Amino acid sequence: MNKQKIKDIAIVTGGLGFIGSHLVDLLIDLNFKVIVLDNESTGRVSNLKEHLSNTNNNYKNYNNENLEIINVDISVLENIQKLYLSTRYPNIKYIFHLAGLADIVPSIERPLDYHNTNVNGTLNILTLANDLRSKSTAFKKFVYAASSSCYGLSKDSSVEFRATREDDKIDPQYPYALSKNIGEQYVLHFGKIYKLPVVSLRLFNVFGTRSRTTGAYGAVLGIFLKQKLEKKPFTVVGDGNQCRDFIYVTDVASAFFAAASSDVSNEVFNVGSGNTYSINLLVELLAGEKIFLPKRPAEPDKTHADISKIKKMLNWRPQITFEEGVGKVLQNIHYWQDAPLWDQHSIANATANWFKHLS
Ligand code: UDP
Repeated sequence: MNKQKIKDIAIVTGGLGFIGSHLVDLLIDLNFKVIVLDNESTGRVSNLKEHLSNTNNNYKNYNNENLEIINVDISVLENIQKLYLSTRYPNIKYIFHLAGLADIVPSIERPLDYHNTNVNGTLNILTLANDLRSKSTAFKKFVYAASSSCYGLSKDSSVEFRATREDDKIDPQYPYALSKNIGEQYVLHFGKIYKLPVVSLRLFNVFGTRSRTTGAYGAVLGIFLKQKLEKKPFTVVGDGNQCRDFIYVTDVASAFFAAASSDVSNEVFNVGSGNTYSINLLVELLAGEKIFLPKRPAEPDKTHADISKIKKMLNWRPQITFEEGVGKVLQNIHYWQDAPLWDQHSIANATANWFKHLS
C-alpha cells in the first residue's frame, strides 16, 4: 500500500466504532482525508483521539485537514442530504459503510430499529453514493460491512466438514442477521441496477483493540477481558469446544481498503482468518478459571471462513495470528476497565429472550 501524493477523500460510516476507527487510522495513514458519519450510539470519539488536535474540543463537528467527524443518524435520508457532501467535497473516492446496529438479543427485542438502521440506513448511504457518482468521476467504490451471520447454522451435511464459501446457503437466524443480509442485497442490487461499483465483505468474528465496551451483552472477548480484570471466572457457553473464525481488526481494515482500491466490483467476499479456534483455546490464552453456561439455541458450533476467493481476487491475506492478536489485546486490557462485568446471572437475564424466541 503506497502512500498517495494527492489527498483523496473517503467516507467511513460508523468510523467512531471498533472496526471503523481502525479503518480510519489506515486511511489517514494512506494520506486520505476521512469524513466520519456516526451517531455515537456505540462508537467513541476517543477511538480517534490520536487524530484530533488538542485545541478543539467541539468534536461533534470536528474538521481538519485529515478528518471530519459528523454526528448524524443515517436512518433518515434528509439528515444525510442536509450535509451537502457532494457539493462540499467533489472528490470523494470511496464510501465505506460500517454504521449499523449489532448484537443478537436487542435485535430480537427491537426488530424495527434494526431494520431502520441496517436496511434503511444502508439504502440511504447507497443513495448518497449514487448522488456522488452522478456528480463526479472521482467516485470509485462503495464497500459494505456485511455479516457472516447470514450463513446461520451451516447445517447442510455438505458444508459441515469444510469451510464456508460465499455461495453457501444463506439462512439468517435472528433479526440482526436478516437486516445485515437485506442490506447486502440492496448493495448488490444497486450494483446491478445503477452500475454502482460495490463490494460486500462478510465479516467473521472480528476481535482486537477498541472492541465495544458498552451496551448490550455482546462479543465474547470484551466480556472475558473485563472478567479477567476483575479476577472473575470466564463464562464459557456450552462445553467451550465451539469454534469461531477469529480475525484481527487491522487485517479487516486492510480488507476494506483492498476491496476499495481493486478494480473488482459487484462481488461478495468472506473476511476471516481461514482458521477456526475454540472458546477453550481463547480461555487458555487469556489464562484464568472458567464456569460453564447452558448452550444456546441458534448458535453455530463452528464458523470457519473459506477465504480463497478474497485471496485470489483481492490479493488479501491476514497478517496477524490469533495468538498475536490476543497478545495485543492483553497489552491494552485497561481499555475494558469501564466495561460492564457479566456473570452467569446477568447473562441469564440478558439472554432470556434469546432462549425464549430462538429455541
Ligand atoms: N461465548 C461464551 N461466553 C460468553 C459469550 C460468548 O462462551 O460470555 C461464546 C459464544 O457461545 C460463541 C462464541 O463465544 O460460541 C462467540 O460469541 P460472540 O457473541 O462473540 O460471537 P458469535 O456467537 O456471534 O459468533
